[in-house]
Amino acid sequence: MARYTLVQLKEELSSGKINARELIGEYIKRAKQSNLNAYITLNEEEALKEAKRAEQLIKTGKAHPLTGIPMGIKDAISTRGLRTTAGSKILENYIPPFDATVVEKLRNGGAVIVGKNNMDEFAMGSSTETSGYGPTLNPYNKECVPGGSSGGSAAAVAAGLCVASLGSDTGGSIRQPASFCGVVGFKPTYGRVSRYGLIAMASSLDQIGPITNNVADSKIIFKTIAGYDKKDATSLKSLPPAGKAKKRVGIIREHLASNALAPSVKKAVKNKIAEIEKAGFEIVELNIPLVEQSLAIYYIIMPVEVASNLARFDGIKYGVSAKEERTLKQLYTKTRSQFLGNEAQRRIILGSFVSSAGYFDTYYKKAIVAQNNLRQSFKNAFDKVDFIVGPTTPTTAFKLGEKLDPMEMYLNDIFTVPANIAGLPAISLPIGNDEGGLPIGFQVIGAFGEDEKLLDFAQLVEDIQINK
Ligand code: GLN
Repeated sequence: MARYTLVQLKEELSSGKINARELIGEYIKRAKQSNLNAYITLNEEEALKEAKRAEQLIKTGKAHPLTGIPMGIKDAISTRGLRTTAGSKILENYIPPFDATVVEKLRNGGAVIVGKNNMDEFAMGSSTETSGYGPTLNPYNKECVPGGSSGGSAAAVAAGLCVASLGSDTGGSIRQPASFCGVVGFKPTYGRVSRYGLIAMASSLDQIGPITNNVADSKIIFKTIAGYDKKDATSLKSLPPAGKAKKRVGIIREHLASNALAPSVKKAVKNKIAEIEKAGFEIVELNIPLVEQSLAIYYIIMPVEVASNLARFDGIKYGVSAKEERTLKQLYTKTRSQFLGNEAQRRIILGSFVSSAGYFDTYYKKAIVAQNNLRQSFKNAFDKVDFIVGPTTPTTAFKLGEKLDPMEMYLNDIFTVPANIAGLPAISLPIGNDEGGLPIGFQVIGAFGEDEKLLDFAQLVEDIQINK
């Protein structure tokens, strides 16, 4: 069976060309036979039951928009009755008693969950190598990483092990793996999709979004999962009025001139920008003050929230526990040192340090001021342009084990982090391959709340690509 898009599959299912039960059976089989390690847990029994129900609904003409569609879900997103580990050994035995709002919405829409996709531990990483369950491999080259943290989701979609998946993006975790695996990854405006049931990494930056084969599929999933949710206090009730179309697209000088940018990526991105210009858009060079400080801002704000969010994993309430310890303090210490990985521990220590009394003003408070200024810089930029485009990542997928120095790993996110700091919607779409055949991603950032407008433009960019 081929790698289907959601739109194609919907047609085949409703016309009866494909049977829902056989379809889910086939995806489960593929997922089991694959050696990419894209899933931590498969949902075999339940998925087959749901497929049977889907078959019935389709037969009786009662199908919902996603009835029978095989989907993956990043393992940081809670699924009732289905193990959810967030890629961490500390949650190896955790089975949520509830569904995340996004999962509830997908289930109501008829989607069938094939399984839970592999990821970096608690979404901290850019390669899935920090997963407690072994790394996922890149379907284009198994010696390479799929990106991260939603690497299992991106690899599964690219390899046809599900039709679409949900990821989460705190600093690039949807877009960077989508870029490395040649698929479409969309991070919506902060607040447009409920985070209720997402195991939090850095709550003020985390956002759930779709990873799909094309932009049309991304639109369908976004429409299904978006909307106000009273269970998420940061969920948006209303949107600002959309800005007028200016037919102008911005580029960030610092990003395109960056030394870190691989020549193959730079070339593909420049060509794409030229094509966008040919399609009738004026290209404007933007000066966005503080954009180069994005990563520095991120690595102060994010660890502070990580340290706070991960405090609940103490061996008492959730997951595994070093039970043999006698005092409470010993139990906390042993559980957390034994079952949390190095990267998680590094960020807890960093976050606790920069938010501690005496350092709070110097680091955390200053980062928040810088964040507000960067937000304003973007707001000013969007007075002049409709979208901002550029590379998603400095390079294509790198080799497993290649980036041992954490700083080198962090630099992967230099182009994706600004959208999280400013809360803006951003999408990555494939625009070709490098000399080694690895996919290259193109990022488009939109104005706050203008997700639909961004998706329409991404579709246009995709069409230019297809009709080339
Ligand atoms: N790679 C980035 C990090 O390690 C982003 C992670 C994410 O978006 N969840 O923090």
